[in-house]
Amino acid sequence: MRNRKKLITNIFKIIFFPLYLLLVVYKFIIKKIKSSIRLKLSWIYIRKLLGAMILTCLTVIIVYGSIKIYKVVSLDHKSISNILLEPGINYSRLQKYSKEHNSHIIIYDRDKNFLYGTKNEFSTKKYKNLPDIVKTEHGLLFALNRSVSVKDMYIVIYTDIKNQVSEIMLLSKITFYVFSTIIFFSIISILISVKGIFLPLKEMTETVKGISKNNLNLRLNVGGSKNELKELAITFNDMMNRIEEDYNKQKQFVSDASHELRTPIAVIHGYVDMLNRWGKNEREVLEESINAIKNESENMNDLVEKLLFLARNDKGTLLLQKDEFSLTEMLIETVKETQIIDSSHRIEYDIKKEISVLADRKRIKQAVRIFMDNALKYTPRKGKITVTLGSENRHASINIRDTGIGMKKDELQHIFDRFYRSDKSRTKEKGGHGLGLAIGKIIVLGHNGKIKVRSKPGEGSEFIILLPR
Ligand code: ADP
Repeated sequence: MRNRKKLITNIFKIIFFPLYLLLVVYKFIIKKIKSSIRLKLSWIYIRKLLGAMILTCLTVIIVYGSIKIYKVVSLDHKSISNILLEPGINYSRLQKYSKEHNSHIIIYDRDKNFLYGTKNEFSTKKYKNLPDIVKTEHGLLFALNRSVSVKDMYIVIYTDIKNQVSEIMLLSKITFYVFSTIIFFSIISILISVKGIFLPLKEMTETVKGISKNNLNLRLNVGGSKNELKELAITFNDMMNRIEEDYNKQKQFVSDASHELRTPIAVIHGYVDMLNRWGKNEREVLEESINAIKNESENMNDLVEKLLFLARNDKGTLLLQKDEFSLTEMLIETVKETQIIDSSHRIEYDIKKEISVLADRKRIKQAVRIFMDNALKYTPRKGKITVTLGSENRHASINIRDTGIGMKKDELQHIFDRFYRSDKSRTKEKGGHGLGLAIGKIIVLGHNGKIKVRSKPGEGSEFIILLPR
């Protein structure tokens, strides 16, 4: 059954092979057009061009042909009218005119019965509604609806339009060949120019294919004329710049973090070695090693906590538990705690105004601690640190001012970068990792707040934290 069906299909395919071939080609073209914007665009242009050309050809041929035929019919009509308007119908003149011009005149009576015809073959031609066209062995006869009525008779004039029709056919042929040539070259130029439009897109695809994590610096060519593709290339390049910057930052972060962890691990390793060799017998070595290991592990713990904070923030899993609380009370509490821990500085505060905010108390306290710790770290002994609380444009403003080493302008640009430490703070071995301010910034910005910094080398620094009330 299945084989029979297949056989019949194959027989059909053989019989209608040209048609089948045409169908296959058509399907192939349509498939190609569907899968390519370039061909689709070319197809749209070609269709429009073809439509315009065919319309123009037809208009030219129809207008030209109509004028030609109308002219010859009008001429016949005029001449025959003149003959008929003479007194009494001059049949011999009519006959003569008919022979000379291959025109045919038929006269019908009032009831449209045949009376007279200039050609024998039309002797019994019945009256027909006009316009009428008759093909004879001598020519193509055409009668327009312009019958002459003389003495209660209908006179129909058939004009030979064979020459005009031949002329029209010749004109049609010429226009067909001319327009076909124009269309052929137009199609080729459309295909080439459309290919040109998509060339930059192809180039872009090749470049994008070449981008990998080891080759993030490849960029699209934005030269050439200004167009939508140039805009796309610029946007893409901007995006790649951001991705590359983020990727490099991430790489730098991992390398900095490993570097920071390597030092305490090396120190702990060194002390463990020392303990192993002499610590069992020498009490001094034992105590020194235990203290150092304790300090370094605390240091490591602090670093790991900070790294975890940053990782949570980057992953978007850092949650803020916002509640309404008294900023005044929280700030006094923090300052008093700091005064207990650090007695080598003069810590003063001016916190009178009662200000409440909707924020994560724990995180805000963590941020304030970071700024206060820095003020202590970078201010020499006996130096003054002042903490004030006020309000500024619907914001609560916490002001932490120190009289420490201060910062230069170029340092200020980087203090919020991860792992940034100025050379001064490195040499003085203040013990920081360069992550404090980065964390403080994340907390304050996470509360839609702002941080302002003023600093002068040798005179001190002032950090202003603004939190929306
Ligand atoms: P660190 O743990 O090194 O203090 P931070 O991110 O808290 O890291 O600070 C980054 C850098 O900004 C510090 O190394 C220091 O150079 C500078 N800095 C921060 N606060 C102050 C300050 N109050 N006075 C002077 N320099 C400061």
